[in-house]
Amino acid sequence: MHETSLIEFTLNAIQQRANQMKIKEVKEIGIVVGRLAAVPELLQTAFEIMKYDRPIFYHTVLHIDYRDIYFQCMDCNEKFTSDTYARAVCPKCKSANLERTSGEELYIDYFIPYE
Ligand SMILES: [Zn+2]
Repeated sequence: MHETSLIEFTLNAIQQRANQMKIKEVKEIGIVVGRLAAVPELLQTAFEIMKYDRPIFYHTVLHIDYRDIYFQCMDCNEKFTSDTYARAVCPKCKSANLERTSGEELYIDYFIPYE
């Protein structure tokens, strides 16, 4: 499953960083996920299973900042959101000359250790 490898990648990166900083337990993790990048429910489920493999994450809460798909029209500059990537057209001028400005994000925003 795509989401499982994403969570594994995230936990690996944070654990490595936490080790360097001599952090014993992580309290919160914040990730930013675009609608096109992954399904948030599956990320959350994968996280709830995988956190118990590593003591550093036993009590960690995962926050997902879920980003919608946004486009900007290259003809009239209209900005709008769309549920689908395919067949998107500008609602104002019907142009298909669009640039996606959000929806593919996938990165670790922050993590907070226990004091
Ligand atoms: Zn337009």
